Amino acid sequence: MSIVWFTDLSVSPEMNLLQKFRVLLHEAGLEGIFKAGQLVAIKLHFGELGNLAYLRPNYVRVAVDELKKLGAKPFLTDANTLYTGTRSNAVDHLLTAFQNGFVPEVVGGPVIIADGLRGTDEMEISVDGVYVKRAKIGAAVALADALLVLTHFKGHEQVGFGGALKNLGMGSASRAGKLHQHSTSKPKPNKDKCTSCGMCARFCPTGAITVVEYAVIDYDRCQGCGQCVALCQVGAMEPGEEASVEILARKIAEYAKAAWNGRPALFASFVVQVSPDCDCWGMNRPPVAPDLGILASSDPVALDQACMDLVLSAVGHDPFLRAHPRASWEEQLAHAERIGLGSRSYELRRILTGLDRHKV
Ligand code: SF4
Ligand code: SF4
Repeated sequence: MSIVWFTDLSVSPEMNLLQKFRVLLHEAGLEGIFKAGQLVAIKLHFGELGNLAYLRPNYVRVAVDELKKLGAKPFLTDANTLYTGTRSNAVDHLLTAFQNGFVPEVVGGPVIIADGLRGTDEMEISVDGVYVKRAKIGAAVALADALLVLTHFKGHEQVGFGGALKNLGMGSASRAGKLHQHSTSKPKPNKDKCTSCGMCARFCPTGAITVVEYAVIDYDRCQGCGQCVALCQVGAMEPGEEASVEILARKIAEYAKAAWNGRPALFASFVVQVSPDCDCWGMNRPPVAPDLGILASSDPVALDQACMDLVLSAVGHDPFLRAHPRASWEEQLAHAERIGLGSRSYELRRILTGLDRHKV
């Protein structure tokens, strides 16, 4: 049975939430996991511009400072998005991160966009999945020595909730890796949107694209890698058919396994401002659960299950299912457990601070 460490959000002048988060990280084993000299990728989501539910940079500062005390070299990272928004290339992504408060003066460390300028700096990592054999992971995540995955726990339109598994699995994937998870078939060029810039043809690994008045794909040569979708800046290369929510959930779990790749890792999730939708939206609807606490574990499956259980027990119904009736969160956890990413059985341990001692 895995251990999930927990702190509620009660505070005092001697013990504020940042101090409680520091205690939580140490109780969850920070010193035993991270070592001097390691390049530690702090995987998080910087929030789309206009969204205000994403993780506060102040918490990230605590993690950066504690890692530096151990002699590690932490950096903040996320990979570019597949959809066109404020984080689909490194320039927009960095400016969004800065505008949302993730600047070195606040967080104490640099921001590195994991899959580079156009979302193509990726490494292929072998994984023995049912759907994924070679996952395309952003290079900065793939090359780090260790991972600290900090997650804002919230709802998600397709897979029910966005927790540690989704943050790591979908969030670390390059743009082509994200397409691989989202779609089950090959891209389709939209001739009305195509500006015939030729970018897709230049980088297609199989030479399957010709551009005269607009891009045309030779499907006998196309291997469905998604590079052209990632590179097209005007959305003219449209992804193929969407994977079912169950297949998407399983692919996310398999990508999480590849992104983790057996390296030292710790996972912490914040069950606060539990919006019904992902932080990829440029807005956040009102929370569907009360602020419940911060949790940490070396098992991301146990952590996601514990966050979900806390929400279900506090709300008395499944608020994510209510917000997105066609979404499914159960399969993400079930498949992650099947492929050996962790356990859905856990023991919840409350950290002992001056405040918590009064309660036990
Ligand atoms: S990158 Fe996009 S706009 Fe440019 S040729 Fe390809 S499909 Fe057309
Ligand atoms: S999916 Fe990959 S192989 Fe197919 S046309 Fe696009 S870049 Fe070429």
